[in-house]
Amino acid sequence: MPDSGPWTGAAGRLTGLGVSQGRAAGPVVRMAAPPTLPAPRPVADPDAESAAVAKALEAVTADLNRRAAAARGEAAEILEALAMIADDPMLLEDAERRARDGLDVAHALDAAFAQHREALAALGGYLAERAADLDDLKHRAVAYALDLPMPGLPAPGHPYVLVAADLSPADTAGLGPDVLALVTERGGPTSHTAILARGRGLPAVVACEGVMELPDGTVVGVDGATGEIAIGLTEEEAAAVRERDRAERARLAASSGPGRTADGHPVKLLLNIGSAKDLRPGAEGVGLFRTEFLFLDRKQAPSFDEQVAAYAEVFGQAESVIVRTLDAGTDKPLPFLGLPEEQNPALGVRGLRVDRLLPDVLDTQLDAIAAAARATGTHAWVMAPMVTTMAEATGFARRARAKGIAKVGAMVEVPAAALRAGRLLQEVDFLSIGTNDLAQYTFAADRQHSALADLLDPRQPALLELIAICAEAGREAGKPVGVCGESAGDPLLAPLLVGLGVTSLSMAPVSVPAVREALAGLTLAECRERARAALS
Ligand code: PEP
Ligand code: MG
Repeated sequence: MPDSGPWTGAAGRLTGLGVSQGRAAGPVVRMAAPPTLPAPRPVADPDAESAAVAKALEAVTADLNRRAAAARGEAAEILEALAMIADDPMLLEDAERRARDGLDVAHALDAAFAQHREALAALGGYLAERAADLDDLKHRAVAYALDLPMPGLPAPGHPYVLVAADLSPADTAGLGPDVLALVTERGGPTSHTAILARGRGLPAVVACEGVMELPDGTVVGVDGATGEIAIGLTEEEAAAVRERDRAERARLAASSGPGRTADGHPVKLLLNIGSAKDLRPGAEGVGLFRTEFLFLDRKQAPSFDEQVAAYAEVFGQAESVIVRTLDAGTDKPLPFLGLPEEQNPALGVRGLRVDRLLPDVLDTQLDAIAAAARATGTHAWVMAPMVTTMAEATGFARRARAKGIAKVGAMVEVPAAALRAGRLLQEVDFLSIGTNDLAQYTFAADRQHSALADLLDPRQPALLELIAICAEAGREAGKPVGVCGESAGDPLLAPLLVGLGVTSLSMAPVSVPAVREALAGLTLAECRERARAALS
């Protein structure tokens, strides 16, 4: 921590990876992990086990109904639907029978849920999509039966620091305003959970070993830049942390103007957003609109009209927008797509590859983007994620142009695409380098893996060389090549990327002021010198 002022009284410290800058302080509330099933227990009284089964399912149903009553809109509908599944008499009957046949309560529940899941999956369609919900219900019922805390997002009714073993992007997207900061035991710096936290300006630390051992109510200070957690702050210290954070945010918010090096070389500073809510003044447009973030918890496909409304809301408020078509798969499953489970999902059907199975999804989305662009008078630029081959780029460009999309681009996230950047630019109008995935696939290291963060470091010459190839191809073709991965928002890396020749940097809104400041402090020649040094 650069300035340890308010933390001096801390009783102890933990350190993880800071992934979303800002400081916060408040009491810890832990999100329980799904329970692990213990070894089967010999059963003396099968009737008592059967009664315990019924009690567990009743408790889960009541808890879901309570939460549904407190929620609104679609969230309430989802919770009500889950409560109905937990209350299904066939599920109860099956679990009770297994208990009477000699299984202990936890194993009887586990087996009955497994059977139910299989039956739903076999029905296909909408019901098959609900099969994944059964896992959540099973974890809740088994946790109740084993007298463990209920898994799922807590709702303590006061501001808190959320601590979890791990968090899914859908959980993170659903966090309420009571969450002051989040700290997870697992996760990597470019995981989508980290990205969502950064998008919201929520201080976040991942890969923080031991944090789940902090008892609920412990007052901690969280530094989302350094990754430091100060344990056992007094209320006075916590207030000082919050005040410093407020002052720092006010200072950064005051910075403005287009991106320029010290000698005036322009570099567009753009925003990465997941919805209109993430838009902030002070940038030169949107460089990455992650459209899948709009629909993370959806069980049914968003309609054409709903998509038009969501895109138009962004188009109407931003100077220029680069929309990315849905990037589903791996840690960003979109339940409404009903994609089959995969053994190795990061190398499977994700991003543009989903189009192989479900071409209508892309067609509807392109139609909706084109309609929203017409309605708002915006020249939307559209790009596809995970483009790997020329054939994919050509096919995407042809379809997008046929819908009336003005500028069509490809993300470079796979080394194969970077190596062929020059050829890709014969087909598309621009490239946007996704360094999060490009690092994952170049170094063969899972971007969510907390122990592999060093391998994913974008400063490594192999990654920089791939970026240099793309930038050079852009210069030759006279077409823009930007970076929209998390490295673009790093004030130490941004000048280096500019030195390699990229024409725009797209980042979480919270990162813009520091990157603007970093570029303004160096000439283009100095940026190039840094790039040369890093490459060698
Ligand atoms: C990337 O991979 O760098 C990127 C910008 O896309 P995402 O992080 O959403 O996968
Ligand atoms: Mg990506």
